[in-house]
Amino acid sequence: MEDKSFSINLKCVFCDSPLEGDTDKQYLSGDMLKCTNCQELNDYDSVMQIAQEEGVAIIEDEVKNELSQKLKDMFKK
Ligand SMILES: [Zn+2]
Repeated sequence: MEDKSFSINLKCVFCDSPLEGDTDKQYLSGDMLKCTNCQELNDYDSVMQIAQEEGVAIIEDEVKNELSQKLKDMFKK
């Protein structure tokens, strides 16, 4: 069975490099994820929160772009 829990790009809160989770391990709230780049320990909850916020920001940007394009079209006449 494929584990999709790491399909979101999780990034180290210290150095911004992608976190590579141990695929054999199921990470849960309260766990610490060690960054392979800077060796800092990332709090799972913070990392997930950032990933979710980034995901939302990307969607918001797309919606904004689409809306401003529609507005431009409306005022073209
Ligand atoms: Zn790091």
